[in-house]
Amino acid sequence: MDSIAQLCSAFGGTYAGQSMTDLFSLYTEIEQKTASFCREHAIACAQGCGTCCEHFMPDITASEARLVAAYLLFIKKDEALIEKVQQSIGNQKGPCPLYRFDSPFHCSVYAARPLICRLFGACAYQDKNGSAVFRRCKYNEEKTMPEHIVFESDVPVMQDYSYALRSLDDQKGEVGFLPEKVASMLDQLQFLAGMLDLDDSNPDDTPNPLAS
Ligand code: SF4
Ligand code: SF4
Repeated sequence: MDSIAQLCSAFGGTYAGQSMTDLFSLYTEIEQKTASFCREHAIACAQGCGTCCEHFMPDITASEARLVAAYLLFIKKDEALIEKVQQSIGNQKGPCPLYRFDSPFHCSVYAARPLICRLFGACAYQDKNGSAVFRRCKYNEEKTMPEHIVFESDVPVMQDYSYALRSLDDQKGEVGFLPEKVASMLDQLQFLAGMLDLDDSNPDDTPNPLAS
């Protein structure tokens, strides 16, 4: 398998397959909206930057963890990386175990990366007064994005995306740190793959795109 579409199809007819399909469809919709938001407001990350992943451990839902675990098991097929995730249990501050220091391409699971990684530095949020606001990522020393915008018009905010994500989830949207959540999905996915007789040979060697 070499794409999330194939992954969803391989698990078709199962709860896990439906969960991955629904989540990927939400990610695709959000990606289109954030790309258009960033274009419109001249928001971009610095070339090759992945600093947020070094100082951060994503909080993710069960559905997100299922997709990352499936990506690691059946697309990346990287046992060392899976072990690194398991060894990071208890680390709540980062660096994220899926971050690649040694590569200009940073995220090992880019296509399956969680929502917060898609939105960090690329989305407005609702402040305590109810206004939609954008603030520059604190690591963006190159100033490749505006410092501060308060929106007069309606723009999508992080909270809207977060509600949409949680409404898909089987554990009432409860979030936890990536290592714990992903590790908790590995056994059940392997069991399910065994039942479905999925082939897990041919390790993936495709390059990874940029983290953000
Ligand atoms: S949000 Fe963008 S600019 Fe900020 S640290 Fe992450 S990759 Fe770099
Ligand atoms: S973008 Fe990838 S490497 Fe960075 S925090 Fe998210 S999952 Fe980890």
